[in-house]
Amino acid sequence: MRYVELAELYNRLADTSKRLEKTDIIADFLKNTKKEDLENVVCLLNGRVFPLWDSRKIGFSSRLLIKAISSATGSSVDNIEKELNKLGDLGDVAELEISRKSQKTLFSETLTIKKVADNIRRLSDMEGSGSVDRKIGLVAELITNSNGTEAKYISRTVLEVLRVGIADGIIKDAIAKAFDQEIKTVDEAFDILADHGEVALLANENKLGDVKLKPGRPLKLMLAVLSKSIEEGFSAVGTPAALEYKYDGFRMQIHNDGKKISLFTRGMEDVTKQFPDVVKAVSKIKGKNFIVDCEVVGYEPKTGKYLPFQKISQRIRRKYDTEEMAKQFPVEINAFDLIYYEGKKLLSNRFEDRRELLKKIIKEIPREIVLSKLLITDDDKKVQKFFKESVKSGHEGVMFKSLGAPYKPGRYVGYIAKLKEVMDALDLVVVKAEWGEGKRASWLTSYTVACKDGDNFLEVGKVSTGLKEKFEEGELDNFENMTNELKKIVVSQKGNAVMVKPQIVVEVSYEEIQKSPTYASGYALRFPRILQVRYDKPLNEISTIGNVEELYKSQNK
Ligand code: ATP
Repeated sequence: MRYVELAELYNRLADTSKRLEKTDIIADFLKNTKKEDLENVVCLLNGRVFPLWDSRKIGFSSRLLIKAISSATGSSVDNIEKELNKLGDLGDVAELEISRKSQKTLFSETLTIKKVADNIRRLSDMEGSGSVDRKIGLVAELITNSNGTEAKYISRTVLEVLRVGIADGIIKDAIAKAFDQEIKTVDEAFDILADHGEVALLANENKLGDVKLKPGRPLKLMLAVLSKSIEEGFSAVGTPAALEYKYDGFRMQIHNDGKKISLFTRGMEDVTKQFPDVVKAVSKIKGKNFIVDCEVVGYEPKTGKYLPFQKISQRIRRKYDTEEMAKQFPVEINAFDLIYYEGKKLLSNRFEDRRELLKKIIKEIPREIVLSKLLITDDDKKVQKFFKESVKSGHEGVMFKSLGAPYKPGRYVGYIAKLKEVMDALDLVVVKAEWGEGKRASWLTSYTVACKDGDNFLEVGKVSTGLKEKFEEGELDNFENMTNELKKIVVSQKGNAVMVKPQIVVEVSYEEIQKSPTYASGYALRFPRILQVRYDKPLNEISTIGNVEELYKSQNK
């Protein structure tokens, strides 16, 4: 299939804001897509070249894209930067520059979907000397052979900001519609496979029922609903319930495929390299094939006292000196669920049975690997005591789990509920940043943050406190580090501000939520402050506009 057909489809999708219309347009397109192109088309529609479970990154900055556009069109870098300041989007700039190009290349090649996806994929594994030029060459080759519309979307795909208003939900609905499947079945398959392309192929062949869970390949995890009281917790999951400590660490899925142990975050990032200590501890689990769900919790090496997540969060991203990091910031595995064991998926087994099996295969070694603390009860008083114990030991509160629940990836009432000591901070994504002044002029110090509204992001305020001024080796929450991270994901700039790809999630506290016409959400935060950078939190799990509204209402009660 020619790429131009997809590029024109993007344009049609950008022209309508109606969800149903978008779904119909995509469903029609998918019906007419050949099987061999289906995976690529669905993946590209989602603005990606790798499936969600695949942690590879394209890693192509706007600076490199400017060079690629320049090389493909003959327009100078200066000129392209000027246009970018005017138009604010490099895709639009690429389209304009193509239209200005005086002479079409004589032997221009027709771009296929496969060619575009392959070239962009190759960007991710180029390293070493000369790799930057080769990367620019791959993108320039695509743009040279593009018309304006193609150049626009190739540029945006490379930067991973498609801007046509299609995300997860719409694509899944469209797959269901195109291949006559139930939305629920498509959803369930997606939660396990985390791959739009593969789900589309299975749907096309009417084989969604055969979805295979494979150790070694991450899946979405089961999440909790929020409850504000013990009563609410019980009513969410039923009585009696399993109560567990809510640890303040980070979620990890541990896979053993018989050959290799792999560790993934809840956002499906591969963190195996970063946690050699966890790999070692896990190799003692009985069995050859398994997927264990757990919380990894940091502790003080000298005293053994538990530490809050932010003290160890740096380990998630640190890929060198990992043994040293493990000594400095040791962690304990608190296992609480077993999703797969010795060739069998346990998704539809009861929670209490999965937990029983988990107990049999783990030999507990404190400060290395243990089972999460458990209490089965229907008694409010016992829960109260358990909650107090949990907080006293340095944890966040308790989780309520339904004894009979299956393992169902996603956040559903009826399976898990959380009750926390401290609540109400928002997890928001940075969408824009501004350069500081005076001695802060070399840092981006003010961040516009947004919550989620379906597939869109709505700004709720600007935050400039909470991060440290001073750069400290190993510490991540400082202006210098944040600036470096933001610079990698700039999509456009205007005056003193840069627009960035929504990627960095921060936990923000505030004094009050107010109604405000300043931000697209209709709300603003008074005295916002960044509590921590949530490297572990995927974008699709940040606070929603519904959460903001609910918190606004609850504070006015
Ligand atoms: P929070 O911001 O409180 O960490 P969250 O929004 O990140 O919550 P939720 O799904 O609301 O995520 O809360 C569940 C999270 O709590 C899990 O992702 C996991 O990291 C953590 N957790 C801690 N202890 C447990 C436990 N015993 N069972 C399940 N999850 C636990």
